[in-house]
Amino acid sequence: MSEILLRAEDIYANYGDFQAVQGASFEIRKGEIISIIGTNGAGKSTLMKAIGGTLAPKSGKVFYKDTEITGMPTHKLVDLGMSQVPEGGRVFARMTVMDNLVMGSYTPRARKHKDNALERVYDLFPVLKEKANQVSGSLSGGQRQMVAIGRALMSEPELVCFDEISLGLAPTVIKDIYTKIRQINKEGMTIILVEQDVKRSLKTSDRSYVMLKGKVVLSGKSSELAEEDVKKAYFGL
Ligand code: ATP
Repeated sequence: MSEILLRAEDIYANYGDFQAVQGASFEIRKGEIISIIGTNGAGKSTLMKAIGGTLAPKSGKVFYKDTEITGMPTHKLVDLGMSQVPEGGRVFARMTVMDNLVMGSYTPRARKHKDNALERVYDLFPVLKEKANQVSGSLSGGQRQMVAIGRALMSEPELVCFDEISLGLAPTVIKDIYTKIRQINKEGMTIILVEQDVKRSLKTSDRSYVMLKGKVVLSGKSSELAEEDVKKAYFGL
């Protein structure tokens, strides 16, 4: 088995007095795709924020390889090799596609490989090369999501977390984006998928974690989890 890249142990995360994540643990090994599945408000995004440096966990520990990264700021995590595509795939609408992408290579490590990284993103999403000099606000929702993904890839990460990237996109666009995700995984990228879509999560990932009310209520190999069982756990039935 390959090495564990990221391990989150018993994470609690709050908004004021509200406990959005209540003792969630998971791990991901190099080369895997895992999915974190759950309905609206299950705590998936909060868990991702707590491991990704945008929300300090109240308790629990996060390790990247052998380094404890609990509460580490995002830019340091990016430098270590961990990158996130946050929910909503926000891009800077008034900036060009290329400038949005280049912003992703701001760390000293990534800056050295900026040109190569940009070519790789353009190979992955040729439409972004065609529209490189257009402002991102003129793109379709799917193309904006590609920019958000491309920006995360510009830091040349080992591990990328995609938070509900299919939200609000047309089914054909979602299919296309998932094809690209599988492609970058085959090329060696380790991937965390945060999803509400049970079927798609199970189909795409090696292992899945189902969250409900801030807790992981079911986990296992995606090929061995029955869709019905996952749905029951998902809805707390
Ligand atoms: P979604 O699909 O809606 O993003 P999720 O599983 O990612 O769902 P979270 O966004 O982590 O869920 O939300 C978990 C809980 O925390 C929800 O009850 C939500 O209302 C609450 N919550 C999320 N963000 C905040 C915030 N900034 N302030 C207060 N409560 C929040």
